[in-house]
Amino acid sequence: MKTAIYPGSFDPITNGHIDVISRALAIFDRVVVGVIHNPSKAPLFELNERMAMIQELFVHEPRLSVNTFNGLLIDFAKEQNVFNIIRGLRAVSDFDYEFQMAITNRHLSPQLDTIFLMTDVTYSYLSSSLVKQVAKYGGDVSTFVPLLVESHLKDKLNE
Ligand code: ADP
Repeated sequence: MKTAIYPGSFDPITNGHIDVISRALAIFDRVVVGVIHNPSKAPLFELNERMAMIQELFVHEPRLSVNTFNGLLIDFAKEQNVFNIIRGLRAVSDFDYEFQMAITNRHLSPQLDTIFLMTDVTYSYLSSSLVKQVAKYGGDVSTFVPLLVESHLKDKLNE
């Protein structure tokens, strides 16, 4: 069984993330989405809300599971006995940071490999923060996120 972890904030999950997950599922037998619990980032959605949205979207995909972690990714990976990390690449601007992180993780855990997947070009400009900004000002996010996320965004911003 080949398993990979796809870590991130997913605040909230977007069509870009979903595209990366679908690609990862075509390569690996199992994908574990690792939702980062990082309160210092002041996320819009609570951890359990972020996890529930992903779980609901992939309810018919038994090969995907959703988990959470705090602290180091390498410790979470060891705990899960998984040594393949998936990260998405949008543009060259992502590369520098992702490269640093992959090398640091490899240094800390030599067995670890980071696999970079490119999304469909349609999503190459898409980020959770952009979606939140557009939604905050009442813009249409229906092409950026699934309907489920769109309605959660509306509820959240009306709270
Ligand atoms: P983080 O806070 O770790 O950057 P994100 O939830 O923003 O978490 O992103 C998780 C991963 O998904 C990262 O590798 C990021 O580059 C990737 N990603 C986010 N949006 C897209 C997208 N539109 N296309 C491809 N990859 C993406």
